[in-house]
Amino acid sequence: MEVELDFDEARYLKLLTNLIGETEHLQNNPPNFIPEEDRAVKHVLDALQPYTKENGGLLKVEHVAYVDGRGNVIIEYDNSLGRSTNEQKTISFIGSHLDVVPADPNTWERDPFKLTIEGDKLYGRGTTDCLGHVAMLTEMFIQLAEKKPKMKRKIAAVFIAAEESNLIPGVGIDMLLKDGKLDHYKAGPVYWVDSSDVHPRIGSASAAIWRLNCLGRLSHSGLPHKGINSVELAMDAVTHTQKRFYQDYPPHPSEAVYKFICPSTMKPTQIKSAEGSVNQIPPQAEVQGDIRLTPFYSITECLERVKGYVAELNKDINVLVSGDRGPCSKYEISTSEGDFKGELEIFWEGEIYKGIACDLDSDGHKALDEATKAVIGSSEPFSSNGSLPLVGEMQEAGFDIQMCGYGHSSVYHGDNEYCSLSYMKVGLKIFNHILNRFNQ
Ligand SMILES: [Zn+2]
Repeated sequence: MEVELDFDEARYLKLLTNLIGETEHLQNNPPNFIPEEDRAVKHVLDALQPYTKENGGLLKVEHVAYVDGRGNVIIEYDNSLGRSTNEQKTISFIGSHLDVVPADPNTWERDPFKLTIEGDKLYGRGTTDCLGHVAMLTEMFIQLAEKKPKMKRKIAAVFIAAEESNLIPGVGIDMLLKDGKLDHYKAGPVYWVDSSDVHPRIGSASAAIWRLNCLGRLSHSGLPHKGINSVELAMDAVTHTQKRFYQDYPPHPSEAVYKFICPSTMKPTQIKSAEGSVNQIPPQAEVQGDIRLTPFYSITECLERVKGYVAELNKDINVLVSGDRGPCSKYEISTSEGDFKGELEIFWEGEIYKGIACDLDSDGHKALDEATKAVIGSSEPFSSNGSLPLVGEMQEAGFDIQMCGYGHSSVYHGDNEYCSLSYMKVGLKIFNHILNRFNQ
């Protein structure tokens, strides 16, 4: 049986207006901004309220909060001739989130915290990432509740809190997983709806932030042989570490299959040194950067290896002395005050994201690929070295994670973020197609 879902534009825009109107309080960047996701939850629950089981409808709607005021929402449509069992197959749409990244009104041309409609373009913080999807999926469940099609599978959506920052754990998807709230969605594809640009996204990179602390010895720059120059040490240590990284992590053959644009990378992005004057040999310098590893390599193993490169350097720091920096630049010195040696310390900052290569043989992927083709005429799956929280772990735990999204990557986390109403309609059509495919 096939169902044809409509898209009630006025209802969609009303909900999205309400959601974007809350975004000032949904900004997530602790400790400056701690979101109150329940402000968004309230509007979603209001929109769904006439269709809930409590009100004689077909939707099971659950508000799950592990932290006061910071809830998640689980919506289920189950109209399978009363055959609901624990083994029931599912189709779930997870990952659309209720928090947003901060927006600075001074750098926007429009009010970021208010929906501004200009033709097909819907401006406001969170329209693309990710409240535009929250409103679209809510509309989909209202359509299901109104049209009441018989479905062989249980259909679910999970809107999550705390996606944009992991500094405060125990709020969102991590807790839902721990709590077993998502386990039964292993019985079918899980569409992670927090990507963009319509075509299926089939891969993301692992990501880790590193900080390399380089310790030298202070000296007058007229007496460089009595100092250890930490800036030079930092440059040489980074060059050496990068060289070893690229030897160990060359482009992987699967990257072409998954259409990754870049291979794995390790690079410095920030550098600073001990404050002093230009006529001093600096005693300390720090370089920060990240590693983006395509999902065909293990990030855990990679971080151990990089730690190993640094440990080996500490054992034999003279490996770094090439002579290119002149005869007085050494990392191990003997002076009348004693013997000194440069030292390196490496740290991982923040959470480590695990990359994912979606299963291209799964029915979940095939359905998304086919649906995209059917609705827009082509499907060009792509991967990117951007990273998403927890999808890698979920795949490992047995979920068939497939990623998609209908906003625009060009405005992700940027100023003047917008989504296109027509793209959101396309998204709902694609999902409609997927539902029908699994109902055959
Ligand atoms: Zn997002």
